[in-house]
Order: sequence, then structure tokens, then C-alpha cells
Amino acid sequence: MKILVINAGSSSIKYQMFEMPAEKVVAKGLLEKIGEETSKLTHTTDSKEHKIETKAADHSAGMKLILDTLVAPQTGVIKDISEINAVGHRVVHGGEEFTASCIINEHVIGSIERFADLAPLHNPPNLTGIKAAQKALPKVPQVACFDTAFHTTLPQTAFIYALPYDIYEKYRVRKYGFHGTSHKYITQRAAVMLGKKLEDINIITCHLGNGCSMAAVKNGKSIDTSMGLTPLEGLVMGTRTGDFDPAILFYLADKGYSVDDLNTMCNKKSGLLGISGISNDMRNLREQAEKGDKRAELAFDIFCYRIKKYIGAYTAVVGRLDAIVFTGGIGENTPIVRSQTCGDLEQIGVDIDEAANTAKSRSERTISSSASKVKVFVIPTNEELAIAQDTFSLAK
Ligand code: ADP
Repeated sequence: MKILVINAGSSSIKYQMFEMPAEKVVAKGLLEKIGEETSKLTHTTDSKEHKIETKAADHSAGMKLILDTLVAPQTGVIKDISEINAVGHRVVHGGEEFTASCIINEHVIGSIERFADLAPLHNPPNLTGIKAAQKALPKVPQVACFDTAFHTTLPQTAFIYALPYDIYEKYRVRKYGFHGTSHKYITQRAAVMLGKKLEDINIITCHLGNGCSMAAVKNGKSIDTSMGLTPLEGLVMGTRTGDFDPAILFYLADKGYSVDDLNTMCNKKSGLLGISGISNDMRNLREQAEKGDKRAELAFDIFCYRIKKYIGAYTAVVGRLDAIVFTGGIGENTPIVRSQTCGDLEQIGVDIDEAANTAKSRSERTISSSASKVKVFVIPTNEELAIAQDTFSLAK
């Protein structure tokens, strides 16, 4: 079976085509600048990377361009689009309704539209991607995979905020959590690495990319996670604050900041970028910190300190802890983040093997010492593969 995985953003479409069940990537690409004068498509196959510049006026035109590229003689990997058996879509917000991936029908579309209120930047473009794919491939099953689904096992004690209860009842204001596809994928891989059944593992998962979140996983299920109603809560991120005193917003509103100013400040101008004044990118930040920039060092230290606090909290929450797992651009590639967040944790049984931690590798690996009671793993995430697996099992 050929499965096309689609991740549609406001002006971009990322895609990967998988041969299943072999889990082989036959082509992947990114179409950027949809709606602009010149859109840019980077399309990669086994043999070559192709760069195509042309206008894709909207997502429908973008989807057509991608499908044409998948079948064109010079760039193609299939002869005809009828070879595509199913399409899997990343959808950010599934509210309380979607506890797992599902085949898309009119009802599912209606729900994704309804939850756009909770994820205004993500659900509308996800939906545009779905509609464009339905138009281009009307006979093919389409599957929605939700970022929130893995966290629908959170108990009320973890997801209800201490606001008046009717705020939850009226508006469904609660913790939802995100990056669920990634947390679920690395949880499944961690079970394999621990040699245990999924339902027998207690772990803490750390997805550290541009957006960062952690999850407390007990008996294979997410029981708490650091992101909240939106992805703003929790860890310090590239440009997001993570946790802070919400009264700061009232205080700044009194000083004349508008709701829009505060929204932009907290989501786009804070985090690593806000503290350092230099960059939201961990590579730049480390470079500047190593050259002696004090604010870059401070941003880095605060980033790690927050992760360590969550490790402490989630250790208490899961009870027996089997492993801590790192993933995402930062989690996979920055040994100093792993050593700083897991350093001095011998009292909870964590002992990093520094040689293993700093060894260059792109594969799944153990970076704790043989004496470490709690294993520490680096597991490269693969959200596209997770979507392809769900799509395959639903569509077949
Ligand atoms: P996204 O969250 O958008 O999917 P990533 O998971 O790729 O993004 O994470 C982006 C972050 O990962 C950036 O802060 C970047 O500095 C960091 N990162 C990516 N690759 C590396 C690398 N090779 N070395 C160090 N940091 C990296």
C-alpha cells in the first residue's frame, strides 16, 4: 500500500509517501510560500533532491502540484495517482472527542472546524489540507491523526484548571496537551528498548524542538503533560514563555499592552529568544554562550532548569520510573541539554554515561550508565511514520 502523509500549515504543505507495511519512505517534500507569487517545492526521492519554483495560489493548487510531482516522469515515484491507497493528515486539535486517529467523514470535518476555536493557527490550515486532498483524491480514504489524542487519557486531576468549574463546562477550557503523536511514538519505541510490554512501562518523555513539551506516561498512557489549553504552557520554548504567573498579563494590560500585544509577546517574542535577545535556535544560542554571552547562557540555564523541575514533578506522579526519553531537534542533538537536565539526579536513580551521551549518533540509543536504575534514551521521533502506521491500519 502507498500512503501519503500530509502536514498542512498556513502557507505550507509537508508530505511523505510511504510504502507500507515496509515503512519505506519513497518520496518526501515541502511546499512553501503557498499563495505568494512564487511557491517553492523541495521534493526528495531515493535518488535525488528536486527544487521546483512555480505559483501555487492556494492549498488545492499546492496539492495538485505535489501529486503532479509524484507522478511526473523526472520527479515521480508512481505512474498514476490511483496508486495512492490512503492519505493520513496531521491535525493539531481533536478536543475531547478524538482519543485516536480516525477515518475522516463529514462529522469529523465538522468537529475539526469546531475545535478551530481552540487552535486557530493550526486547525484551519489542517482542514484546508484535508479538503484539498479530498478534492484531488476523492475515492481514497483520508485519516486524521490528532496531536491531542495521546493525552486524552489524562485524569481530571491533571486536566482541570483551578478556575471556576463552569469555565470548563461552558468553554471546555482545560489542559489538552500537544505533540501527542511524537510522545506516543517514542513511548512505543521505549517499550521495545526496555524489553517490556507497553502497559508495563512508566516513563517521562521530553519532546524538545521549537515547541517543547513533556509527558508523564504511566502504564503506557499519558497521565500528565506540560502543554495546556494551547501549546503556550509548560517548558521554556524557542519563542514561547511556558509557565509564568498569569497576573503578569493583568499587570502589563494595566500598563497599556493590548491582548494582541501580549499574545504576540508570549508566543513569538519570549522563551529562548526573549531571554537571550539573540535567537530562538539552540545552535546559535550555544555558540554565543560558548563565546561568553551571559544572556545566552542564562536562557540556556533557565531552559534546562524548567525541564529538570518537570522531571522531578513527573517522577513523583508516575511512581516507579523506568526511563526518561529525549527527542526533537534539541532533545536528539544537544548532549549538554541532556546532561544538564539529568545531572545530579542520582537520588532518583538517574546516572548519565557522558561518553554515550556525547557520542555522535542518529539512532535510538541508551545514554545512561549500566548502573543507572532509570534508563535514559535518545529516540529520534518520527511523527510521519506514526501517522502512516495509523493510516495503514485504519485504511487496510
Ligand atoms: P520543530 O519543533 O519545528 O519540528 P525541530 O524538532 O527540528 O523543530 O527543533 C528545532 C530546534 O532544534 C532548534 O532550536 C534547533 O537549534 C535544534 N536543532 C536542530 N538540529 C540540531 C542540531 N543538529 N544540533 C543542535 N540543535 C539542533
